[in-house]
Amino acid sequence: MAIATINPTTGETLRTFEAHTDREVDDRLAAASRAFRDWRLTPLAERASMLSRVADVLDRDAEDLARLATLEMGKTLASSRAEVEKCAFVCRHYAQEAERYLADETIASNASRSWVSYQPLGPVLAVMPWNFPYWQVFRFAAPATAAGNVGLLKHASNVPQVALAIEDVFRAAGYPDGVFQTLLVGGGAVERIIRDPRVAAVTLTGSEPAGQSVARTAGEEIKHVVLELGGSDPFLVMPSADIDRAAEVAVAARMINNGQSCIAAKRFIVHADVYDAFTERFVAGMTGSAMGDPMDEGTALGPLATEAIRGELAAQVDATVRDGAKLLAGGKAASRDGWFYEPTVLADIPEGSPGRQEELFGPAAMLFKVGSIDEAIAVANETRFGLGSAAFTNDEAEVARFGRDLEAGCVFVNTMVASDPRLPFGGVKRSGVGRELAGHGIREFVNVKTIAIA
Ligand code: NAP
Repeated sequence: MAIATINPTTGETLRTFEAHTDREVDDRLAAASRAFRDWRLTPLAERASMLSRVADVLDRDAEDLARLATLEMGKTLASSRAEVEKCAFVCRHYAQEAERYLADETIASNASRSWVSYQPLGPVLAVMPWNFPYWQVFRFAAPATAAGNVGLLKHASNVPQVALAIEDVFRAAGYPDGVFQTLLVGGGAVERIIRDPRVAAVTLTGSEPAGQSVARTAGEEIKHVVLELGGSDPFLVMPSADIDRAAEVAVAARMINNGQSCIAAKRFIVHADVYDAFTERFVAGMTGSAMGDPMDEGTALGPLATEAIRGELAAQVDATVRDGAKLLAGGKAASRDGWFYEPTVLADIPEGSPGRQEELFGPAAMLFKVGSIDEAIAVANETRFGLGSAAFTNDEAEVARFGRDLEAGCVFVNTMVASDPRLPFGGVKRSGVGRELAGHGIREFVNVKTIAIA
């Protein structure tokens, strides 16, 4: 894919970029390696205060940064602003908590004194997606750099201006040269970078095939890898739930980021007793979402990020309908410029069809009617993914069942799934390996060093 800004609202190519040559990449790897030598020895308190300054720069430049994200990938301006704000939050969180998360831990053993010290690994490559073009990067970079690592960002090829803006944010906050750098390269350049001895570890947020490719190379090089991959999150609604609220949250949970979120609710698994009432409200909410220019304040649903993504979503919906699913709303691209797709709801999804098996990355919801909690959990767990899950119920026994039996990295009850710097985030099954955020996230890219004194 060319490295370019193509406005998804109009389809117009606004700017193209030359990829960095191998030589230019090597220069940046050398700079990262040099920077790490000092950065790892910079006191944590100093690194933390620089991270606070990153948050201040994000606050100061929020409006410009938000407009850039909306321009490049089409999310609504309100959600771009909220994303930048959340990035400042994650920086402040680690500025405050890194010292506590990384404090030495004394462990009793046969030694007279033994403890664990959390030490940085070195330059870490971050291969990132376009869908939350700031958040995905900052939720890696804030903890990783606070811990004393240095970051190398390979961002998605459709958000190059955001990628460069992020590098500028770190520079403006006073980060030394080489501590955070953007590499303008395509996916094809990633293997060589992972294999470079100067790169200590790699993290990827993105699709399963990209994750497999990165993990394969990291495995061959015996380098630590964190993967945050796709999801087809279940959203379960039981008879004791507040159905009005469940339907309202369900619409928000499906439509977030124009439907392009890994933790968007994608499969709505509803008990038969409340299925009709929920469906009526849900379909009305989905079709009532105002579609339009994401720069306009009144818009709830903007375009998909690229033409290819819209094409893939349309093919999945078409195949699911051909397999026998019932179309309750939408089901086609919107007739206007740009990569818009109508809010879509399908029901009676046959086994084996894409709507049941795959991740649908756009405003298309799959409805399932179930007769019991056992059936609800079985349907929820039937995909190969295990990222997030949400359940609406006011029955404590059901809450306990969902908490124990849903195969996911998190279970949110009576609310939608959302990441939070204070809570660990990640998936099981094909949704990924490792965790981001909270103490768990900052301890991913460290050497857990045991020190024992006889
Ligand atoms: P993608 O195609 O996998 O792209 C993500 C990043 O990987 C981009 O920087 C891309 O570069 C790069 N890439 C692609 N193929 C690669 C390869 N073979 N080797 C190395 N790098 C490669 O993903 P996407 O379609 O942009 O993003 C959507 C996916 O990300 C969805 O599945 C979504 O669920 C997932 N996601 C997961 C999380 C999470 O936290 N679990 C969060 C957000 C998104 P180019 O752009 O240059 O191709």
